[in-house]
Amino acid sequence: MSTQRQKLQCDKQAGRMVPVINRNRCEAKADCVSVCPYQVFEITTLSVAERKELSLAGRLKLLVHGGMQARALRADACRACGLCVRSCPEKAITLVAREAVSSSKDGIHPGVHHA
Ligand code: SF4
Repeated sequence: MSTQRQKLQCDKQAGRMVPVINRNRCEAKADCVSVCPYQVFEITTLSVAERKELSLAGRLKLLVHGGMQARALRADACRACGLCVRSCPEKAITLVAREAVSSSKDGIHPGVHHA
C-alpha cells in the first residue's frame, strides 16, 4: 500500500493516538522517519538521563549505534496510520492514547519500556 493511500486512511484528527518508542529496543534504523507521512520522527542523541534509564542490553545497543535513537518530536501530528509500527524492524513502536503519556520538547515520555 502506498504512503499516500495509507495517509488517506489515517485518523482525521491528529494527536488522539501517539507513537511511543521503546528505548531498550530502538536501534536508530530510521524506518519510522522514512515511512511517516506526517514527519513525526527524527533521529537524535539520547540525553544522559534517558541513558540512565536503559537496561544493560539497551545501553550496549545504544553504544553500538552512536548514542542515537528515534524520537517522536512531533507526536501530536500523528494520525495513527500504523505505518511506523509495521515498519520498525525492532518492534520498538506502539501507538497509545495521547492522554496516557506526557510530552516535552524532546517528544513523548511514557517512561522506559522494558522488554
Ligand atoms: S502512526 Fe506512525 S507513521 Fe502513522 S502518522 Fe503516526 S507516527 Fe506517523
